[in-house]
Amino acid sequence: MACMVDDILVPETGRLPSWFNQKIPDANTIREMKKRFSASGLHTVCESAFCPNMGTCWEEGVATFMILGEICTRSCRFCAVKTGQPMAVDFDEPRKVALAVEELGLRYAVITSVTRDDLDDGGARQFVETVKRIRKINPKTRIEVLVPDFSGKLESLRKMAEVKPEVIGHNIETVRRLSPAIRPQADYDRSLKVLENLKQLEPSIFVKSSFMVGLGETDEEIVEVMKDLAHAGCDILTIGQYLAPTQLKRHLQVQRFVPPEKFEVYKQRGLKFGFKHVMSAPLVRSSYIAEHGFKECSKKIASR
Ligand code: SF4
Repeated sequence: MACMVDDILVPETGRLPSWFNQKIPDANTIREMKKRFSASGLHTVCESAFCPNMGTCWEEGVATFMILGEICTRSCRFCAVKTGQPMAVDFDEPRKVALAVEELGLRYAVITSVTRDDLDDGGARQFVETVKRIRKINPKTRIEVLVPDFSGKLESLRKMAEVKPEVIGHNIETVRRLSPAIRPQADYDRSLKVLENLKQLEPSIFVKSSFMVGLGETDEEIVEVMKDLAHAGCDILTIGQYLAPTQLKRHLQVQRFVPPEKFEVYKQRGLKFGFKHVMSAPLVRSSYIAEHGFKECSKKIASR
């Protein structure tokens, strides 16, 4: 179980395995970043999802913007993001994000969103506009988007691929057997199809996915999900330990803590399946030091 120190989720030593011990982040830096985001009316998934790396990333001036409000139309059992009636779309948000990227001086910007099943294109237009705006104001900044499944709509995926972010991610989150219970409104095969379509629509874009362990999956099932993602054309894979955001019934509790050495085994197995880059460790999250994944992939391509 984690505790809150200054609104920051910090694993309590002695409760979580020792490998979760983290340096307490500088509270002033965190307060300053929070002030900036709330002043600009922007949301981050760092805050909404209680990300355990928020302190580390924010101290490096890195954050993942969450567009399309902070209320999701879905209710995944591992996610801390609020669920319910979504907020009205802020059509000025793309400009605000682009200005925040400029103000923070980001070399690499990660954009994600809640799922908006209430919008006809699932929110693809807002993603596209945000990428265009960032490019206009920050031509040197590289962009990674972590998208919902847009209900599998090919037109939304096409629009997203057309603006060519360097990396497009869509998370599979867990193994096939557990998917219906953990992501009730999502679909395992639809997510694979989304990744496959994105890679076919624009092969030059690096496609990325992520899943958590500790939700009750077996190691054989982990190998299966890696095979499925590699087959779908994924270039980048991230694997991290699930941490229950709360003790509330809506959130699943951790079924096991996977030791760091096992994450290394997953990594080596993943590289054998052909992923260009695998980041696998207990505290890894899909946008954690995301730029590193992009650079590693680019190096691999360049060295061919
Ligand atoms: S789709 Fe699921 S994981 Fe994504 S924000 Fe909504 S509840 Fe969270």
